[in-house]
Amino acid sequence: MPVYKADALVLRTYKLGEADRIVVFMTRDRGKKRGVAKGARRPRSKYMGALEPLTRGEVAYFEREQRELVQLNYMDPVRSPLLAQSAEALGYVGYFAELLDEWAQDAHADERLFRLGSSMVDAIAAGAPIEKLARYFEYWLLRLQGVYPALSCAECGGSLGKGAMMPPREHMFVCEGCAPGGGGTEVSTGAIRFLASAGSVGPERLESLSLVASASRELETVHRRLINLHLEKELKSARVLREMRHAR
Ligand SMILES: [Zn+2]
Repeated sequence: MPVYKADALVLRTYKLGEADRIVVFMTRDRGKKRGVAKGARRPRSKYMGALEPLTRGEVAYFEREQRELVQLNYMDPVRSPLLAQSAEALGYVGYFAELLDEWAQDAHADERLFRLGSSMVDAIAAGAPIEKLARYFEYWLLRLQGVYPALSCAECGGSLGKGAMMPPREHMFVCEGCAPGGGGTEVSTGAIRFLASAGSVGPERLESLSLVASASRELETVHRRLINLHLEKELKSARVLREMRHAR
């Protein structure tokens, strides 16, 4: 049996039998895999602290013929989301991992998605402002999938510089002048400016972009609409995050 080594991101785990875990992980070069981590739930297991969602590291595994589950040999963590300095940031880790899990495909490498996920755990460990990071991550994730609408008016092609709207049941932006009556999600100038800058700035430079709380809420709503449209469901972790905020 050949052993594969890969850069990997842990997406989620679940219990298997008495002492093991199944680990869903995304590799840089061979897509998403599911593997058995033997003894991972035993005290003093070699996997201790290495299987938290969004942990990046080097994984070694065997593939077994005719079996979907690979066998993990080791997971050597390089960067852990547990380095996050705030409880709030830790609350977002599961959300980021769930989004990556939804979009990563089995046995289909997606280098750009892998790099985006890796840069998120780096940013979290470095103490990046977490809400801004979440909007940035959603924006880039949707962009990489080719589902982010253009940052110009879908009706007249004009600029969104004076603010925009995403009409109800439509998934594009229109300018103030073309916005229909009857609601929709308003997107302020500040939110549009954030998106325009996020397209050309790495996550390590997020501090330099401004995004006030109200603009972050607007983008959160827009992104949720786009994500739900493409996944045809609402993510559990997104709901949990919203409820946590309301409880504060
Ligand atoms: Zn227009």
